[in-house]
Formats: sequence, structure tokens, C-alpha cells
Amino acid sequence: MTTPKYNRVVLKLSGEALAGNDGYGINSEVLNSIAKQIKEIVDLGVQVALVVGGGNIWRGISGTQRGMDRATADYMGMLATVMNSLALQDALENMGIPTRVQTSIEMRQVAEPYIRRRAIRHLEKGRVIILAAGNGTPFFSTDTTSALRAAEIEAEVILMAKNNVDGVYDSDPRTNPEAKKYETLTYLDLLNQGLAVMDSTASSLCMDNNIPLIVFNISEEGNIRRVVLGEHIGTTVRGN
Ligand code: UDP
Repeated sequence: MTTPKYNRVVLKLSGEALAGNDGYGINSEVLNSIAKQIKEIVDLGVQVALVVGGGNIWRGISGTQRGMDRATADYMGMLATVMNSLALQDALENMGIPTRVQTSIEMRQVAEPYIRRRAIRHLEKGRVIILAAGNGTPFFSTDTTSALRAAEIEAEVILMAKNNVDGVYDSDPRTNPEAKKYETLTYLDLLNQGLAVMDSTASSLCMDNNIPLIVFNISEEGNIRRVVLGEHIGTTVRGN
């Protein structure tokens, strides 16, 4: 079976996913492994929009915990996502995959600004787009960016890559050996049960726009391809 189930996807990578076991910064081995996995789905003809977080470098919350102004700390977080996006662009282009980085905060010497119709055109031409700087607004997360951009570019699904966790559990599987994995959930379940998959703003946006989400483990090589081919791994979250 090599016909992909999806034609256009948003792949959300947390900043942590790029740090690997280092816990901070960008681990080049991990970066190349992720790029290789992305190439596998590009080779299947899938249109890929990447949204990358910044938690491996800076999160707004780390600033506020040190007494910083929230908006300033959040802008720093958005800049961290730009560094990650450039690293991903470099790794992907080394593998011969054409890419474009688009930023929600204008920085013309570094990348294009995010323009929806242009983003769609890049996808149609087979380029991987990397959407950097979140939504360009403080008080949001890159999970909300994934939801927002998925709605805008009419992606069929958001693939949420997790590090060493293969789905959504009722409690933390790393500390509770009895933790139960969910096969499917609704966004209302996430909101009602306070399951820490994505923040509530992002969950609501996905729910209201009926965008399905698949949470899966990216640490196992080949998993992005498996998900895209429709293999049931991880947890699927739906609008109803
Ligand atoms: N951020 C923001 N607005 C956005 C997206 C991100 O202010 O639209 C900031 C926020 O401070 C966040 C940081 O950027 O903590 C990094 O993003 P995120 O925490 O989503 O990264 P991840 O947890 O996925 O690595």
C-alpha cells in the first residue's frame, strides 16, 4: 500500500523534538533523522506544511517565571521557532527537498513573509513550507499556529509528532505503568478531561473547524510515513 491517505498535511514538531536527548538546542543527528522521515512522505507526493515550536531554545513561560513581561518573552519564543525552522530548511535542502520558510513576523533578509495564497502555491509546486514565528502574536502557542494554518491552507489533518510517547494516555506512561492509551478521542474529551495534548485555544480551533489530529511517536523511524499511509498508530482526535 503506497497510496497516501492524505494529500496535504500540517506536521507539528515541538522544539523538544529537535533537541533529542540533549534536552536543549538542536541535535544534528535528530534533525537529519526527522528530515529523512519528511523526505519519505514528500516522495509519496504528499504536500507538507511544517510548523515547528521553540521550546528547545525558549518558551514564553520561562521568561515570565523570571519576572519578564509576557509579551516580550513570547516574542523571544517566536524568534526561537525561526532558528529551528532555518535548521530544518537546511537539513531538508541537503536531502534535495525544495523548501520555503515563511515567517509570521516579517524578516525579509531571512525568509518570506507568510502569505496564504503563496504558501498554497509552494505546496502545489511540491515545496515543503516551513511556517515560522508562530502566529506572530504573543499569548499563543505553535499548536494554535498548526490549527490556524491547517484551516487556512485546507490541510486534511494535523500530524502532531511527540518524542518517545506514542499517543495520548489517561496519565503519564513514563511514571504510571498502568497508564491507558486512547485510540480515539474528541476535542471535547481533551478539553473536559484536561488532557495535555495541545492547549485549549488550539483544541477549540481544531474542533470548530473540524480538523482531525493524529498524535504519534516520531522517535520511531518511518512513523510519519506510516501515519500518512493510513496505518493506525498513535491517537486520533476528531471534532465529534
Ligand atoms: N509563541 C507565541 N505566539 C505564537 C507561537 C509561539 O507567543 O503564535 C511563543 C510562546 O512564548 C511559546 C514559544 O513561542 O512558548 C515557543 O512555542 P511553543 O511553546 O509552542 O513551542 P513547543 O512547545 O512546540 O516547542
